[in-house]
Amino acid sequence: MPSTPLIDPFARPITYLRVSVTDRCDFRCTYCMAEHMQFLPKTELLTLEELERLCGAFIDLGVRKLRVTGGEPLVRRNIMSFFEAMGQRLGNGLDELTLTTNGSQLARFAQGLADLGVRRINVSLDTLDPEKFAAITRWGRLPQVLDGIEAAKAAGLRVKINAVALKGFNEDELFRLVDWCGREGHDLTFIEVMPMGEMGEELRLDQYWPLSDLRARLAERFTLIDTAERTGGPARYVRLEETGQRIGFITPLTHNFCESCNRVRVTCTGELFMCLGQEDRADLRAPLRADPADDAPVRTAIRAAIARKPKGHDFDYSRQRVAGQVSRHMSHTGG
Ligand code: SAM
Ligand code: SF4
Repeated sequence: MPSTPLIDPFARPITYLRVSVTDRCDFRCTYCMAEHMQFLPKTELLTLEELERLCGAFIDLGVRKLRVTGGEPLVRRNIMSFFEAMGQRLGNGLDELTLTTNGSQLARFAQGLADLGVRRINVSLDTLDPEKFAAITRWGRLPQVLDGIEAAKAAGLRVKINAVALKGFNEDELFRLVDWCGREGHDLTFIEVMPMGEMGEELRLDQYWPLSDLRARLAERFTLIDTAERTGGPARYVRLEETGQRIGFITPLTHNFCESCNRVRVTCTGELFMCLGQEDRADLRAPLRADPADDAPVRTAIRAAIARKPKGHDFDYSRQRVAGQVSRHMSHTGG
């Protein structure tokens, strides 16, 4: 353990790092990306070796959980070498190595991930209807993702399905998703759509399905038992008495979760975001490159940034307007 772990100004220990290893993706989910995205030039990206060094510096400073995300992490070339390097820190600073994926490449990589020490993964899946899936992801194909999820299960990975709650889109699939996850043995978490990236204000408000409403509908069929269970993230959980299933709710809008925030995010260009919902950031690429043989400059930069981590985000959909919007897309910061 490091002698002085990372503690922010609100006495929150920072033990969880989410690293976005690419801004690219093989899907174009409508709430996440524009159809024609301008991606970063490759020269802007940290190399995988630099990402390893950077994540290693965070682990040396007390980060115990690392989630790899993107963009789609599994489309970055040679990404398994990064998982291999981070897997070697398991039990050596790191308690958990995990990823969030759209599932498209899991059929290829699930076994390799399991072999390198990954135990749980999050797969994003908003609908079980192939046509709706193609519409919401623009470029995705549902059977490929379902095959990937099967491969993950076969490799012994525990799968949590993350579904963004979208008004008029998957409202009618609430019970279908719950039943499917129950049968397959996957946990299921719903997420409120967040105002990230430029998108017409009207479209955002049109998409927003508050989880308070989703929860009330769930309660029409199931008995919901509140639990104090946490998985190190912002989700709050209920158990369905009838099936024993666990259902999570990530509610940045209807319930602010910032008071227990333990995380920061690093982008594929080495920018550190201290809060998903704020613009303030710190450049870690320059200190990282200042001396390829010495992590002291980057450790100093990390500490300086954590010292100004804000109290919370300002997202607010109340009074029929989108407030607190941030201009970057979720794929930039890594959802
Ligand atoms: N490509 C991977 C995936 O889809 O799981 C990882 C990156 S993606 C940005 C991470 C998560 O962010 C996904 O679960 C996605 O549904 C969610 N997401 C993207 N845009 C969002 C938004 N505007 N509001 C809420 N969740 C969003
Ligand atoms: Fe890609 Fe994930 Fe964004 Fe969908 S949510 S476009 S899969 S990064």
